[in-house]
Amino acid sequence: MPRGLERLDRETLVGWLRETDPAELERLWSRADRVRAAHVGDAVHLRGLVEISNHCVRDCLYCGIRAHSPGLARYRMAAGEILECAREAKRLGYGTVVLQSGEDPGLTRAFVSGVIRAIKSETGLAVTLGLGERTDDELAAWKADGADRFLLRFETSDPALYRRIHPSLPGAPSDRVAQLRRMRAMGYEIGSGVMVGIPGQTWDILARDVETIRDLDSDMVGIGPFLPSPRAPLGGSGAGTLRAPADEQVPNDELTTLKVVALTRLACPEANLPSTTALATIDPASGRELGLTRGANVVMPNLTPSRYRVLYEIYPGKAGLHETADVGHAVLERRIAAIGRHAGTGPGARGR
Ligand code: SAM
Repeated sequence: MPRGLERLDRETLVGWLRETDPAELERLWSRADRVRAAHVGDAVHLRGLVEISNHCVRDCLYCGIRAHSPGLARYRMAAGEILECAREAKRLGYGTVVLQSGEDPGLTRAFVSGVIRAIKSETGLAVTLGLGERTDDELAAWKADGADRFLLRFETSDPALYRRIHPSLPGAPSDRVAQLRRMRAMGYEIGSGVMVGIPGQTWDILARDVETIRDLDSDMVGIGPFLPSPRAPLGGSGAGTLRAPADEQVPNDELTTLKVVALTRLACPEANLPSTTALATIDPASGRELGLTRGANVVMPNLTPSRYRVLYEIYPGKAGLHETADVGHAVLERRIAAIGRHAGTGPGARGR
C-alpha cells in the first residue's frame, strides 16, 4: 500500500526513514521539493558563516573542538576581524551573518553585544548567533542589541542518549529544548536540528526528533550527518559501546540525511532549511544540490578567515575548507543556477 505523506505520525515517519524502494523515495523527494517551492519559493538564501572562536568548555562526545580535544590550537577572533567578515558578507550580497563558536565564556556578554551593535549599525545585516548554551541574561541582552536569530541544535530528542553524548557542566543541567523555547519567548527566530546517525540513535528516536522539530515550530532547522572526528570519543572505539543493535542503529549516511531533510520540509513547510556543510562534506560532488532539491532552501558559505577556519575542526575534511570567500561564492552561484534556482536577496526571514 502506498505510504501517506499527509499525516506524518510516528509510525509513518519510521516507515519513510527506513524506506529503500527508489520509486517510493522519488515520491518523497518530489513532494518535499514541491512543498519547498510552494512555501518558501525558489530563492536560495545565503548566510555568511563566521566561526568566531573554537574555545569550548563542553566535552560533547561527538565534537572535534570539545574542551579535551588533544593538541588543538585555540583562537578567538577580535571584534574588528569579525566586523571585517560581516563587511565581506554585505559585499557578496548576503542578507545574514551567522556568528558561530564553541561554548566560550571568553566571548563575554559585553564583547558579543559590541559586535552585534557594530554589525547592525554598519551593515544592517540580520545577525544569527550560534554560541551554544548561554544564560537568559546574555540572550536577552543580545536580543536587545539587535540579534535576530539563534541556532541551537538539540542534537537528539532522546534524554538518555543526549545525556551520554552531551555531558552537562557541573551544576548546570543541559536542556537545549528549554533554551529554544525561552529564546522564542524573547523574540528570537529559533533554529534547531539534529545530527543523523549518532551512535545509539534508533529509527524511533530519529522519528521523534522530527516530531520535536515540528512541535518547536522551528524557524530554521539544521540537519547533517554525524561525521566521526578522531579528536572526539565517538570518532574512535567509544562509538562501539553506544551503538544500537544493527537493525535499529540509524546509519550516518547521505540517503538517511536527505530523508530527514525531506520529512522536515513536509513537517515544517515554512521553515528555512540549510543544505548543510556536513552534507556537502559527505558528498562533495552533489550533496549541496541534493539537499536543495529535496527540501532545503538555504546555504551557509563560510567566511571565516582561512587561518582560523582550519582550526574550527568539528570533524575532518570539512567542505570548502581552503576556498576563499570569493571563489566559494562564485562556485555556489554556478551550482545554484545549474539546478534552476537563484540566490535570494535580503535577510530571508522565515516563510519569505
Ligand atoms: N557550540 C555551539 C553549539 O553547540 O550549538 C555551536 C557550535 S557546534 C560545533 C555546531 C554543531 O556542529 C552542533 O550543534 C553539532 O550538531 C555539529 N557537530 C559537532 N560535531 C559534529 C560531528 N562530529 N559531525 C557532525 N556534526 C557535528
